[in-house]
Amino acid sequence: MALLEVKDLAIAVAINGRLVPVVRGISFEVEAGTTLGIVGESGCGKSLTSLAIMGLLEGSQVRITSGSIVFDGQDLLALPPERRRAVMGADMAMIFQEPMTSLNPVYRVGDQITESILQHRRISRAQARERAIELLRLVRIPDPEGRIDSFPHQLSGGMRQRVMIAMALACDPKLLIADEPTTALDVTVQARILDLMKELQAETGMAIMLISHDLGVIAETCDTVAVMYWGKIIETAPAAELFADMAHPYTRGLLASIPVTDREVDRLEAIPSRVPLIGETVTGCAFHPRCGRARPVCADIDPAAIAVSPSHSARCHFPGEDSA
Ligand code: SF4
Ligand code: MG
Repeated sequence: MALLEVKDLAIAVAINGRLVPVVRGISFEVEAGTTLGIVGESGCGKSLTSLAIMGLLEGSQVRITSGSIVFDGQDLLALPPERRRAVMGADMAMIFQEPMTSLNPVYRVGDQITESILQHRRISRAQARERAIELLRLVRIPDPEGRIDSFPHQLSGGMRQRVMIAMALACDPKLLIADEPTTALDVTVQARILDLMKELQAETGMAIMLISHDLGVIAETCDTVAVMYWGKIIETAPAAELFADMAHPYTRGLLASIPVTDREVDRLEAIPSRVPLIGETVTGCAFHPRCGRARPVCADIDPAAIAVSPSHSARCHFPGEDSA
């Protein structure tokens, strides 16, 4: 059994008393010790999916409307909230794009790491501080004994992201969810953080779910890739297979739009037009207004997932064809 099994997950946002779907029935698995990449433009539902897995949607305007999330054999959505939080807190951790918003600026980084260790382990404060130094060493922060008493603003962006990773590792997670972990960093630092994550995975055996808008980042890091568009997974395959042979025109467009600088691209220059808005009604394939491969059937019938190979599928009526 996979470590994480998400089945038919649907998520909706309450807008003016109406539930508007934003994640429309997605299924995927993450095997222990491997990395799944979820890629797509902003608003495709990838961040909401990760927040749903972490149990961070509760109390917001956003709800899970159907589906299941089975983690380490336990159906999280069927557990009482308390049990669920215990499972999530013990074995899952998450890191975000901008460490400055997750680190508290008025506390020394060592105290923040120590606190998160004390949440997970019954050890003394002095032992937790020792463990914090070990974690800083693990994430390759030079001079951890000296840096442990730094405030977040005294560290570079890359060092702060390393501190966030150290905090995430405090619970020895089986699954690390990383949502755009390197987007705020310049390209060189980004590459070093991605390398670090791979090295830590090899050392600890944790699984990683990496969320990114950047197919280049996904290519560097992931074993399996799921491409999301307008709340659905429109193509999924082992990374090597996907990059050798992209079946969906949207995935090809993402590849063509990999930025050559470190600036974030909000809109894909290689793909004309835009993603349909939340709540907009779309008939047929949601990608058809932007698709160079579209034919009349595409405007009428939403394509089902077609198997391109046993491990590779795409939601397209004409998978693998050359676009016009
Ligand atoms: Fe393009 Fe049609 Fe395939 Fe949709 S189903 S991606 S519109 S070719
Ligand atoms: Mg996001």
